[in-house]
Amino acid sequence: MIDIHSHILPGIDDGAKTIQDSVDMANQAVSEGIHTIMATPHHMNGSYQNQKSDILPLVDLLNERFKFEGINLKVLPGQECRIYGEILEDYKKGFVFPLNQVSQYIFIEFPSGSVPRYAERLLYDIQVEGLTPVIVHPERNAELIERPDKLYKLVKNGAVTQLTASSLVGYFGKNIQKFSQQLIEANLTHFIASDAHNIHNRTFKMEEAMDNIKKKYGIDMVYYFTENAEMLVDGKTIYKEIPELIKKKKFLGLF
Ligand code: FE
Repeated sequence: MIDIHSHILPGIDDGAKTIQDSVDMANQAVSEGIHTIMATPHHMNGSYQNQKSDILPLVDLLNERFKFEGINLKVLPGQECRIYGEILEDYKKGFVFPLNQVSQYIFIEFPSGSVPRYAERLLYDIQVEGLTPVIVHPERNAELIERPDKLYKLVKNGAVTQLTASSLVGYFGKNIQKFSQQLIEANLTHFIASDAHNIHNRTFKMEEAMDNIKKKYGIDMVYYFTENAEMLVDGKTIYKEIPELIKKKKFLGLF
């Protein structure tokens, strides 16, 4: 399978620190059945700036190294862009680039606690430019957990989303796990990816997540996610179902 979100490039963000870390991550990825991985280092998240010219040479470096080591893992270039006002200007300058370069998809990360007021407008403008914004890990955003209707609106208006495998299997706690399931059930998410940072506490969990999806939703849902990842890297139009509103359950008997 293809993992479209990872921090496997060495020494440029809070993921792999050294090439050996990248090799360790690659071996773990392969053991979970991943044959292609997109390297999506952080960009403009307050700590790291990684523009296209920083990313491409490291992708080449890893591909050569994995080949040398006999590791069957292909690395594709990507970028995890924190939302900021000048994304489109930077896209036109070539600092921000579409996933795998050839696609029309671009990762957009919100701050973990909130959704900026200008997000709706910016996601619209991104689409006017011919790009499709992929909101990464909406299940870990505090505002979206409280206000899932906001995510519904963004998806209804054309954004797509990527759920993190470890969220779905409970690594980030029960609330985030529950919300992850609700996102799948309401057709509010289109991709599952690892967002792996290392082989210790932020690992892949892709195999476990897919097993979980197969048991809970059936094999067709596994195909939906795996095929969408393939179509994304090929720059094709992905499968979507009509999104639904998640109704927040009221605590009965509280009043
Ligand atoms: Fe990430």
